[in-house]
Amino acid sequence: MKANRELVMIPGPTPVVESIRKQMERETASFKDPDFLNDFNQVIADLKELWQSDEVFVLVGSGTLAMEVAVSNIVQKPDPVLVISHGYFGDRMIELCQRKGLEVDTMTSEWGKAIPVEEVEQKLAEKNYRAVFSTHADTSTGVKAPVVELGKLLSGYPDTLFVVDGVCSTAGEAEAMKDMHIDILFTASQKALGVPPGLAIVWANEKALKRREELGDIPEYYADFHKWLPIMHDPNNYFGTPAVNLIWALNQALKIIKAEGLQNRFERHRLWGGAVQQALEEMGFHILAEKGSRASTLSNVIYMEGVEDAEFRSVLKQEGVVVAGGLGSYAGKAFRLGHMGNIDLNELVTVVTAIEKALHRLGQPVEFGKSANIVLDSILKG
Ligand code: PMP
Repeated sequence: MKANRELVMIPGPTPVVESIRKQMERETASFKDPDFLNDFNQVIADLKELWQSDEVFVLVGSGTLAMEVAVSNIVQKPDPVLVISHGYFGDRMIELCQRKGLEVDTMTSEWGKAIPVEEVEQKLAEKNYRAVFSTHADTSTGVKAPVVELGKLLSGYPDTLFVVDGVCSTAGEAEAMKDMHIDILFTASQKALGVPPGLAIVWANEKALKRREELGDIPEYYADFHKWLPIMHDPNNYFGTPAVNLIWALNQALKIIKAEGLQNRFERHRLWGGAVQQALEEMGFHILAEKGSRASTLSNVIYMEGVEDAEFRSVLKQEGVVVAGGLGSYAGKAFRLGHMGNIDLNELVTVVTAIEKALHRLGQPVEFGKSANIVLDSILKG
């Protein structure tokens, strides 16, 4: 029998709560409508304040556009850059930088492991990189990069910009541009912000904007900071049509974040992520990311002997929970579970319980209720 309601627990898009969904249903206003302009201004102000940024760009597009914007505005052919990759999306950044004709040095980890900061430090001694790129949480591995330590290290290199891909982390993992010495941070709407897909968000500090100035004209048009700055300073200006309903939805998501408190939200993700990972391990799964480098926003979960990927995910879907398949060499060997954004504790308990039910249906030994116990105990009792 099919579940009444499906919880989409892939690592983005994440479940969209009713108050955000309602913004998507509204009749679309003119992008010159004074009420809409107020809301857009509020979004820009909140994004800058919450993530400690000098500027922010809210564009129509997905996370990959945000990657392109981040690169195009601070480096140009044949600048040397360093890309730290902990998986598929780090590798995407490598490819993007290569396409731009940059001189790309890479540091790539074995999937599941994080590159030690000391190795990055050695690498920085070899060359004057114009920029260093790192994914905060790589969605293909669930590995979290040591962004605080990397930022500290890079603060000693005034000519090198530090760029963080927060597509699978922003609004879930602790991020603050100034405190963490990040020059560009970018994300997309559909993950820990809990908004439907369609917005690319790029934060930039003074240092990054100064670099943009130095580059003069760049070949990119839509992705150019200079085209968008007048709009971000006053949304009454026009360059490209804003996604009106998505901006309303983001405004509502930011209200939710401010009511929760950004630091509380980070702490909730840390606690909940750890609890889910513990419950999964107790069920007999393995978590791909090594302990100490696990993202709080998602888990890459390796199957135990005897569980077949397609069958597990299809049975789990019947039980009401949708998860994603593994990527790269983990396709067929692991599933990816998102636990970020605006999900609530009841939903989290439902998810681990549905996983127990799916395992049981597949003939695996299961102690019903154990994972709900673990989740509730560790979250409510600490
Ligand atoms: N970076 C990371 C870390 C991601 O997880 C993703 C999407 N899963 C992207 C970049 C690309 O984002 P999009 O699919 O929205 O283009």
